[in-house]
Amino acid sequence: METLSIVVPCYNEEQSLPLYWAACSQQAAQLDVNVEWWFVDDGSTDGTLQLLREMNQRDERAHYVALSRNFGKEGAMFAGLEAARGEYVVFMDADLQDPPELLESMLRGIRLEGYDCVATRRVNRDGEPKLRSFFARAFYRLINRISQTEIVDGARDYRMMTRQMADSILSLREVSRFSKGIFSWVGFRTKWLAYQNVNRAAGESRWSFWKLLLYSVDGIIGFSTMPLAIASITGVVFCVLAVGLLLFFFLKTIFFGDPVAGFPATICIVLLLGGIQLFCVGILGQYLSKTYLETKKRPIYIAREKR
Ligand code: UDP
Ligand code: MG
Repeated sequence: METLSIVVPCYNEEQSLPLYWAACSQQAAQLDVNVEWWFVDDGSTDGTLQLLREMNQRDERAHYVALSRNFGKEGAMFAGLEAARGEYVVFMDADLQDPPELLESMLRGIRLEGYDCVATRRVNRDGEPKLRSFFARAFYRLINRISQTEIVDGARDYRMMTRQMADSILSLREVSRFSKGIFSWVGFRTKWLAYQNVNRAAGESRWSFWKLLLYSVDGIIGFSTMPLAIASITGVVFCVLAVGLLLFFFLKTIFFGDPVAGFPATICIVLLLGGIQLFCVGILGQYLSKTYLETKKRPIYIAREKR
């Protein structure tokens, strides 16, 4: 019989884990595959690891990897994916925001309908702070404009894939990981399932606004070089503008004898150009810093315990 590996990144999830385990193991019993879980304790500071040890003692299908510190969800997902051995692999959050009821139709999509991957997307963002939804939408619009890789709005990391696709993802060893982009970059035939947003079973979201903002920068830098082009284009546009203005004032002074006044205008322009220059250098800096981090070839995660 084939095996389905369920990879669950957990960061301070002692409240939701028991709920997740109850709901998911019940669903798994109805699937006609062997199921193994790979919980990844992402350096939790609460009782999550203790809970995982107990679950592993009670049920040999519940494995875990404990990371040496908090590596972030991306690192945790990678750790779980590397540990998973099944013919099929699925990522799931520990907070029951990824409904286990979908597992069956996901499996069907791969086994019977010939897809390599079945992914899910939320059709609404109810229950999320309004401002956060607004920025999330703006981010997806922006990144899809400037990136060749399609990033689907509302796509979750909740997706099931074949071993072949899982191995392809493992072959992408970049340190600044942006899974939504990586999934789409590796290609393969993907089926999309839509569902209504479900709120967290317990606890609070681990993503602060700031963390999300940095993550979105990871996404943009990782999957588009357009900001670099924008910096160059802005430079060219301003050069052309400067030459035009120069000619204009030169001719105006010669023919009308009217010397240019306007100290404030000069200050404004100097400030504007200074700002634009710093902005463009900043963009360069972002790419450079990412390149710097990647060239160190540090591991994506470090495991302390694996069972
Ligand atoms: N998570 C993690 N490491 C982190 C942050 C989150 O492993 O640094 C896990 C978390 O335990 C959960 C999943 O990633 O299982 C999604 O996190 P969360 O529910 O906080 O995010 P949201 O659903 O609000 O996007
Ligand atoms: Mg969640």
